[in-house]
Amino acid sequence: MQDVSSLVARAREGAPRAVARLISLVEGAAPELRRLMAELAPLAGHAYVVGLTGAPGVGKSTSTSALVSAYRKAGRRVAVLAVDPSSPFSGGALLGDRIRMSEHALDSGVYIRSMATRGHLGGLAWAAPQAIRVLDAAGWDVILVETVGVGQSEVEIASQADTSVLLLAPGMGDGIQAAKAGILEIGDVYVVNKADRDGVDAAVRELNHMLGLGEAREPGDWRPPVVKTVAARAEGVDELVAAVDKHRAWMEERGELRRRRLDRAAREVETIAVTALRERMADLRGNTRLEALAERVVTGGLDPYTAADELVRGVTGS
Ligand code: GDP
Repeated sequence: MQDVSSLVARAREGAPRAVARLISLVEGAAPELRRLMAELAPLAGHAYVVGLTGAPGVGKSTSTSALVSAYRKAGRRVAVLAVDPSSPFSGGALLGDRIRMSEHALDSGVYIRSMATRGHLGGLAWAAPQAIRVLDAAGWDVILVETVGVGQSEVEIASQADTSVLLLAPGMGDGIQAAKAGILEIGDVYVVNKADRDGVDAAVRELNHMLGLGEAREPGDWRPPVVKTVAARAEGVDELVAAVDKHRAWMEERGELRRRRLDRAAREVETIAVTALRERMADLRGNTRLEALAERVVTGGLDPYTAADELVRGVTGS
């Protein structure tokens, strides 16, 4: 294993392979990860994280690629982290991404990486922020985090982003259904993609209507805009970038960006702590201390809450 410090130094010089190696350390939950995160801590906090979620087929990959082009035109360096929470396969080489993103292959201002998180104890909530921190510390201006929309992961990804973009498409009843099922709370910006298809205006109307419902907004609160795009022809993408920039400005003005990042850090610390605790608990299976506690619960000598307290004390040493 190459020295973590030299990998970090090379990643900061823009070497894509060094970045890839560092993200692999995250993905593989390598023992060096702890040292890596300690090295990155003072370097991160400069990138802006944009999350992109939506049901399969709505046009996330196409939109990501079009967004990358738009950001590049504006002179910003863009990293894409494509997260598949359902895939156990290691990322970095997902064929689909390579093909879809081939138009950016020769641009050193673009970095694209897939990451699998299934099988991690802490899952997405554990791995995504650390991969984001690698990209941030490596100096990327914008980090686009794209995920396959499958319920909980949408919510998780949204919680990792500074601005969360939710994609829908007309004629995809499931998209609107998903939206009805609570996804509507997580978008800062909504996109109705495939605006070249029938039914786009109805979809925008329905979405606007739903966004207006249950609304108890104060003046000056953020009202999520709905942007129409034809990602396949890069139409509406500049408007999407403008909507994201506007949300960013609003967040900065209101101190909301800082609050969101504090929330995110708190959740990350919590996830790492709970994961560590669970690992230590798992080590205790078959352990005589746990068996002795179980014995006392079965025989009525101890209630399960007190037993659990004793177990936690034993595991944390507190
Ligand atoms: P993802 O699964 O959400 O990443 O969706 P993809 O980006 O792979 O797109 C799914 C399909 O929709 C592909 O065949 C795209 O070419 C097509 N597509 C993407 N954007 C548009 C669009 O704006 N209009 C139309 N008609 N098709 C689109």
